[in-house]
Amino acid sequence: MDNLSEDEIIAKYFVPLSGKGAFNLGDDTALIDIPADRELIVTVDTVASGIDFFENAAPEEIAAKALRVNLSDLAAKGAEPLGYLLALSLPISSENWLERFVAQLGKDQSVYGLTLLGGDTTRAKPLSITITAFGLAPKGKMIMRNGASPGDLVAVTGTIGDAALGLQILNGKIDKVGNEYLVERYRIPQPPVMLATVLCDYATAAIDISDGLVGDLQKLCRASNVSASIALENIPHSKQAQALIMQNENWRDVALTGGDDYEILFTIASERWSAFSAQSAKCGVSITVIGKAVEGTTPCFALRKEPRTFARSSYQHF
Ligand code: ADP
Ligand code: MG
Repeated sequence: MDNLSEDEIIAKYFVPLSGKGAFNLGDDTALIDIPADRELIVTVDTVASGIDFFENAAPEEIAAKALRVNLSDLAAKGAEPLGYLLALSLPISSENWLERFVAQLGKDQSVYGLTLLGGDTTRAKPLSITITAFGLAPKGKMIMRNGASPGDLVAVTGTIGDAALGLQILNGKIDKVGNEYLVERYRIPQPPVMLATVLCDYATAAIDISDGLVGDLQKLCRASNVSASIALENIPHSKQAQALIMQNENWRDVALTGGDDYEILFTIASERWSAFSAQSAKCGVSITVIGKAVEGTTPCFALRKEPRTFARSSYQHF
C-alpha cells in the first residue's frame, strides 16, 4: 500500500517514535522541560539525495546519516541528546521505504537516547531530510570553538579520512576490494556521542569534523585566535586508509580535507590531559593527540618535519 495520506503516515510511522513532550504528535508544538541546572543546545542539518547520499541509498543508511550528522554537533558541544524534529520532503510515499527508514530511526533513538518531538511531512523532489536536534549540557558548559589557548593539546576522536576515501571508492576512483570498511564509514557515521559528558568538563574548545579536518581546524583556530602545529604522521588513520596513503600521497590530502568524518576535534590544557585521559578511557572512544595550539592565527602542518599546505582545505557546497 503506497497511498497513505499525510495524517496516516504520521500516525502509523512517526507517532511510535515520539517521546515525552511530543503529545503523541497530536498537537501543534512539542514541549521541552529543561532541568534548572542545564541548558538546551540546538542544531540543524539537511541531507539531500544526490548531495549527501546516493539516489539509490538504502533507507536505513539515509535515516542513520540524517540523524547522526546532528549528533556529532551535539557531542562536540558537550551536550547529551534529548530529542529531534524531522522535516521530511518525500517524492513519493512508499510504505516499504518508510518502514525501513523509521526502523533505523528507532534503533538509533535507543542507542543514542533521544526521541522524536515533531516534524513536517511534505511532497517534494529530490528526497531531503532536515533534522533539528536538541541536547542538554550543564549550564554554562557548552564547549565553544573559541576557547583554545596557546599550549593546549589538539586531539581528535576515531580515525580521520575513512569516509572521504569511501566516497572516492563509490565514485570509482579507488578499488573497492579490501576497502569495504571505508565505504561503510561513508555510509554510516559513528559520532562519538558517549564522549560528550567528559568533554564538557575538560575541553577548552571543540568542533565536529564534518567538512574535513584541515578546514575544521582552521575554523577552530580562527575562532580561538590561535594557530596549531600539527604533525601529519600523528593523525590517526584506519589500516585501510593508511594503506592507500602509503600508495599515493594524494589520498592523504583527500583524507584530511574531504569531510564526512563526524568525529570531534578538540583542545585541552596540557596539564589536564592525564585526568581527561583517565575519564575518557571509560567511554570506549579512541582519542589521539595530533599537535599543539600555538600563538598565531592559522594552523600549520608538517609531515616528518617537512611543512605541508593543502590546495583546498575542506568540502564546500558552493
Ligand atoms: P501543522 O500543519 O499544524 O504544522 P502537521 O499536520 O504538519 O501540523 O503535523 C501534525 C503533527 O504531526 C505535529 O505534531 C507535527 O509535529 C507532527 N509531524 C508531522 N510530520 C512529522 C514528521 N515527519 N515527523 C515527526 N512528526 C511529524
Ligand atoms: Mg505542518
